[in-house]
Amino acid sequence: MIPIKEDLISVGKNRPAFLLRPQKIIIHRTGNSGASAKNNRDYFESLNHPPLAGKTFASAHYLVDATNIIRCIPENEQAYHCVGANRDAIGIETCEPITKEIYQNVLDLIVDIILRYKFKPTPDYLQPHSRYDPLNRPFDPFCWIDFSNGKTNPKNDLFDPNAFYADVKSQFIRQGEKLS
Ligand SMILES: [Zn+2]
Repeated sequence: MIPIKEDLISVGKNRPAFLLRPQKIIIHRTGNSGASAKNNRDYFESLNHPPLAGKTFASAHYLVDATNIIRCIPENEQAYHCVGANRDAIGIETCEPITKEIYQNVLDLIVDIILRYKFKPTPDYLQPHSRYDPLNRPFDPFCWIDFSNGKTNPKNDLFDPNAFYADVKSQFIRQGEKLS
């Protein structure tokens, strides 16, 4: 796993420093093709300052691209990534377009977090944003409704949900961990 780079945004509107005790992980795709992890981190920071301050709340704990895993909000503080889960979830943003390298970095980070918090690599602990906002974020990063119905991702990219959970599980087991 590549090292996590800590590059925190400043405490302010978009990083309120409310306490978080993580119970799960929410996975996202940025929807911002071509923007790097650092670009997205700087966007979150910009929401703390004029002229963008006050309009939008958007932040996440991690931003992942092909060569960087950036932590921009500490894991014990809430971020604004998923209405309905911000109070108990760590948010990971996947930069787009999603390449094999980016996908692998996301898997590495997920397994690292799962092991540290003693989570399991299952949908109880690892959920897509689409689960909480199926209307506006139906494929963020894969379709929860399709997954629940046993379908693959019609976007046909690296976030096929069934392959994704299988990949996280196999990496978890490779680290010597047991599923039950
Ligand atoms: Zn999202």
